[in-house]
Amino acid sequence: VSAEDDFRHRLPAPAPASGAATAEAAAAAARRTLERLAHIPERPRAMAAFDSLLGEPWRIEELVRDRRPVVGSFCNFMPEELAIAAGAIPIRLDLALAEAAALAGRVLPADVCPVVRSIFGAQLAALPAFAAVDLLVVPTPCDGKRKLVRALGEQRAVHMLALPQTREGERARAAWRAEIAALAARLEELSGRRIRRGPLRAAIELLNARSARARELAALRAAHPRVLSGRDAFLVAAASFSADPGWWSARAGELLAELEARAAAVPRPTEQRLRIVLSGSPVLFPDFQLLELVEGARSAPAVIVGDDMCSAGERLRHPTVQDEWTTGGMLRAAADRALLPCACPCFVSGDDRVDRLLELVRATRAHGVIHQTLRLCQLFDLELPRLAAALKAAGVPLLNVYVEHAAEDAAPVQNRVEAFLEMLQ
Ligand code: SF4
Ligand code: SF4
Repeated sequence: VSAEDDFRHRLPAPAPASGAATAEAAAAAARRTLERLAHIPERPRAMAAFDSLLGEPWRIEELVRDRRPVVGSFCNFMPEELAIAAGAIPIRLDLALAEAAALAGRVLPADVCPVVRSIFGAQLAALPAFAAVDLLVVPTPCDGKRKLVRALGEQRAVHMLALPQTREGERARAAWRAEIAALAARLEELSGRRIRRGPLRAAIELLNARSARARELAALRAAHPRVLSGRDAFLVAAASFSADPGWWSARAGELLAELEARAAAVPRPTEQRLRIVLSGSPVLFPDFQLLELVEGARSAPAVIVGDDMCSAGERLRHPTVQDEWTTGGMLRAAADRALLPCACPCFVSGDDRVDRLLELVRATRAHGVIHQTLRLCQLFDLELPRLAAALKAAGVPLLNVYVEHAAEDAAPVQNRVEAFLEMLQ
């Protein structure tokens, strides 16, 4: 799909002035979130690097200056190693921004999920990260994202990554591998460079090193929740959306060293706070409202010890597992890694997502689960009864909150979170 294609009937465009206002609102929302995080008591010094990446324009300026093409994608289905091996820079563009959603609402119906509206609004406003990319890769987990392929395609070059309905069976795997082969060809065309064995192996090793750091951080946090807040853990993951993977691994390594020193220096006190696992639709920067409501609750002190969200805990956890270092073998392994471990409820079967959440609750010794369902997201809503039944059977209390990215959303969600934590105490 590309803007040059002959679209006979295009969506109407909102007034151009609204784009500038949305861009200003995006920068202000990022600043406000980072200012609130700056007040977290005993915040690790190493968080400054992640604050800087998300609060200052240098990374986007770097991307604009770089001669390599930039590939922006959504969700966790993009095999980033392919883009790197083709000589491009992959970044993830998902965001949660009420002002962008409102801008898109002037064109799209209101009854569309806030993620789709935020993305389309960000494109209409030409937010800096969107303006910096040369190609958008849009997976199709749901109707909203499928229609986004066309809506974005009217504006710029878009590559649709068609997801299979199920991950089981050779037919689905073959369709996905064909999809990945088509993506590889598109990336090669974009960069003018073939994906070769050496660079592909180097890219897989680079991303596997990042994945190993992410798992170390998650394990440390589960064992010593006092050393890093859930809000900061989500910020570290959010930084990985646009950071160079080598930069991210180095900064995460510094953070890890600081946290390990802290964990070793202080004898392990009994954790007084409630340990909460988050599940459900992704919490996306700069809207950290749910995280702030949980960790800033007045009814009972609580800390987020883990999550199964594609924006945080599940974002970097899974390495590419290699059995042969041929180009074909590596492409197959990258395709499998992008599809098989993903906890997104867009596939027919959601059993592994439930199993993984139960395991996470056990490993983190969580007192309860708070599940976020973004309004109008049927995927998470339809899976909720199954998840709730499994948690109930395991004796794990669950709170589901329906969330829209808007300030007026805060009071009812806050009341329910406060009541849930009070009940857990
Ligand atoms: S939950 Fe699924 S559809 Fe939603 S952003 Fe994550 S990977 Fe994409
Ligand atoms: S939140 Fe739900 S409806 Fe929205 S893009 Fe993600 S999966 Fe689709």
